Amino acid sequence: MGEIMEEMASIATTTRLKRATDAARAMLRAALDLALPHLCAACRQPVEGQGLCPTCWSKLSFISRPYCERLGIPFVYDPGPGILSMEAIADPPAYHRARAAVRFDEISRALVHALKYGDRLDLAPMMGHWLSHAGRELLAEADALVPVPLHWRRRWARRFNQSAALAAAVSAASGVPIAAGALKRVKATAQQVGLTRSERAANVQGAFRVPPEGKAAVVGRRLVLVDDVLTSGATVEGCARALLRAGAANVDVLVFARVADPVRTSI
Ligand SMILES: [Zn+2]
Repeated sequence: MGEIMEEMASIATTTRLKRATDAARAMLRAALDLALPHLCAACRQPVEGQGLCPTCWSKLSFISRPYCERLGIPFVYDPGPGILSMEAIADPPAYHRARAAVRFDEISRALVHALKYGDRLDLAPMMGHWLSHAGRELLAEADALVPVPLHWRRRWARRFNQSAALAAAVSAASGVPIAAGALKRVKATAQQVGLTRSERAANVQGAFRVPPEGKAAVVGRRLVLVDDVLTSGATVEGCARALLRAGAANVDVLVFARVADPVRTSI
């Protein structure tokens, strides 16, 4: 009995010690944040404030009209309002509209990687602000945001979901709430990198599902899927299909960066 009490007391002390250490570490990190200049997320030069240095900032490629109203991909020339791209007509996606803040290139890739693998959560508000601007029309009509979920095993390895971090920043900037738990990744899919378009589609087939407890947040609602990067669109297509099958009224897509080779018009 005494032995057990001793053991419990020792566990309590360890827990208290761990908490104290965590708190000390957090304070030290805050102090370092104040003392050290921030580094540019792309070139690692010290910067005033946060995010990107002026040189990398000027290289960022923001996406604006004219673009295909459906896919959000920039046109080579302005075909006039409301014209869709050939891609959107030949192979229409399950989602209604997609918008992206910037083109996926060297600088935006560095931002995405810094957020995803580099623990640069401080970048999320800035990226979320750009996302909110790019998606303002979608957000004005939206009931809720749905971050593209990670499989629990990958979230465990990476400790957080970058899409959820971006969705939280968009929610803070736009006031549109997040439908937490509306969508689950039920299949641990292989990394999409290096796969062809059809391989990517097959890879995410059946990967997403609206769980029974998520239904209420989906049925009859206008939803905006949030992700960091759109490459072939297979992931958001899989998510949109699952949400529409579960009864969503509308699904739009908002991503930070997209691969965007300029497209030609349907005419
Ligand atoms: Zn830079």
